[in-house]
Amino acid sequence: MVILSSPSGGGKTTVCEKILGRHKDCVRSISVTTRKRRKGERQGQDYLFVTEEEFKQKIRRREFVEWAWVHGHRYGTLKRSVTRAQEGGKVAFFVLDVQGGIAMKKLYPQSVLIFVLPPSVGELKRRLIRRGTEDSQEMKDRLRTALKEIHFWSKYDYVVINKNLEQTVRSVETIIQAEELKAGRFDHTRWGEKKGQTQRPRPKGRRFFRFVPKRDLA
Ligand code: 5GP
Repeated sequence: MVILSSPSGGGKTTVCEKILGRHKDCVRSISVTTRKRRKGERQGQDYLFVTEEEFKQKIRRREFVEWAWVHGHRYGTLKRSVTRAQEGGKVAFFVLDVQGGIAMKKLYPQSVLIFVLPPSVGELKRRLIRRGTEDSQEMKDRLRTALKEIHFWSKYDYVVINKNLEQTVRSVETIIQAEELKAGRFDHTRWGEKKGQTQRPRPKGRRFFRFVPKRDLA
């Protein structure tokens, strides 16, 4: 499981989407939220948009592995998203705020936490304004939260500065590739001279992070 976090406007969703577009063996977890749907967002594809009451019901039924208040709305990761990620044999991305990222790392220490940082505070402000999806009060709140969230980078396994989208995507791909080659993920039972073993070392499970030829991401 790969957890991507960044302050609002840091670019984590764009980075995740680019990776999903390039790698068939990557999937993204769909979170549940009480926030209103933005123009262009699809129910069940970007989020599961629910009412306050529906969200509370899911809390009561213990359907979440984690949930948090972010910018005045509730957001949560469903247990079934994690089960699917663990059983699906694919690289699963979770795009979460820092509270969610830290909670997931505690529950699943083998997950990989990547913090996507904007190149500067000035650039972060510009990106939030350019995005223009929030009214001015909500944007101010998001900026205030973003400036607090930035300090959590040190709790993450990796930090990637998102100056250039292509480079950022490449960095995330490189992190995943390196993670898959870690000795702890190596399946030694499948490599050797015994019957049924091959001479080819393979990572555990069926997960392979295949690289596709470089394409223009613009
Ligand atoms: P947005 O409203 O811009 O889509 O998301 C606001 C923030 O909520 C982002 O930082 C996003 O990553 C975070 N978020 C989305 N889904 C979840 C979730 O399931 N859990 C947590 N803790 N944060 C989430």
